[in-house]
Amino acid sequence: MVNSVVNPFLSLTAPGVAGLKPYEPGKPIETLEREYGVRNAIKLASNENPLGPSPLALEAVIKASAKLALYPDGAGFALKAALGRHLGVQPEQVVLGNGSNEILELVTRTFVTPADEVVFSEHAFAVYPIVTQAVGATARVAPARDYGHDLDAMAGLVNENTRLVFVANPNNPTGTYLAREALEAFITSMPSHVLVVLDEAYFEFVDAPDYPDGIAWLERFDNLLVTRTFSKIYGLAGLRVGYGVGHPKLISLLERVRQPFNVNSAAMAAAEAALADHEHLRRSRALNASGMAQLVAGIEALGLHALPSVGNFLAVHVGRDAAPVYEALLRQGVIVRPVAGYGMPEFLRVTIGRPEENVRFLQALEAALNN
Ligand SMILES: *Cc1c(COP(=O)(O)O)cnc(C)c1O
Repeated sequence: MVNSVVNPFLSLTAPGVAGLKPYEPGKPIETLEREYGVRNAIKLASNENPLGPSPLALEAVIKASAKLALYPDGAGFALKAALGRHLGVQPEQVVLGNGSNEILELVTRTFVTPADEVVFSEHAFAVYPIVTQAVGATARVAPARDYGHDLDAMAGLVNENTRLVFVANPNNPTGTYLAREALEAFITSMPSHVLVVLDEAYFEFVDAPDYPDGIAWLERFDNLLVTRTFSKIYGLAGLRVGYGVGHPKLISLLERVRQPFNVNSAAMAAAEAALADHEHLRRSRALNASGMAQLVAGIEALGLHALPSVGNFLAVHVGRDAAPVYEALLRQGVIVRPVAGYGMPEFLRVTIGRPEENVRFLQALEAALNN
């Protein structure tokens, strides 16, 4: 029984926390099947890799399971060394996280107090406002330009109270990206008391020639933290492992704030093995490129359009309130992501799936729109 007497401490939450709205994840397949009584549902809602992880990563998980009684290596020595080689940085420049979301949270807890401000863009990744509000800080949200980040508008919000600027490149849920020159000029223009957090969760998918590699800038900017993840192209979202790369002194501060064993042993083993499977990465990229073309063509054939995306997902403008369309897709066993919470009530975000999943989404979408 829930005690109906409300303890006074409940009203004594830290500043910002009482008004927090929880992150809304994509609906799990099991939840949809339970709630709607449908079967064979597909999920194109969380930008997961439809190929799954590398077989080498799965093998590593099985091998790691022999040592589950032991605490993981809290220093993450092997994975940091592998990432150092992979990225061309020192292991001391790498902090591991329970997903890159944890890095976004860690950096905010490390640098931002209730007196400070955090700048990010309208339609940007939902975790930025959550971590900002959770520490009681003030969010300064720059209006978007063509749904992407407007760097001039963002720079215009930076003042002496700004501690962090979040930049998603590419951005989720819009799929938009910032070109090398513009982003480099933006980072160069940031005052030294501002840390730029460059979120590259979809880095490995992008093949636009003017798309920058944030890690190449770390030698020049010590107020830059680049985050990446094994959840997206590496297909390991369920294990929760991501990382941040920056100046060793910056990283050592984040290392002090994190939990001692924040990344589990199976996740670290899988991530290290996944880094070595170049062929799986190549196949994942190729499947994404062809699926993207298939979906864009199908969406246009329905008389709709999607924002041009360099990621593994598309924001589709359905031309009306997207909530009933989302519901109609659910009833057909197709899970996508409503993005009204991102200020995009007429859009649905769909992850690029396998060819047959893309067909099923397009057919379900057509049926939903004709209802
Ligand atoms: C998915 C995503 C992340 C992080 O996901 P993790 O699973 O926590 O690594 C970070 N940023 C963006 C923009 C994302 O879309």
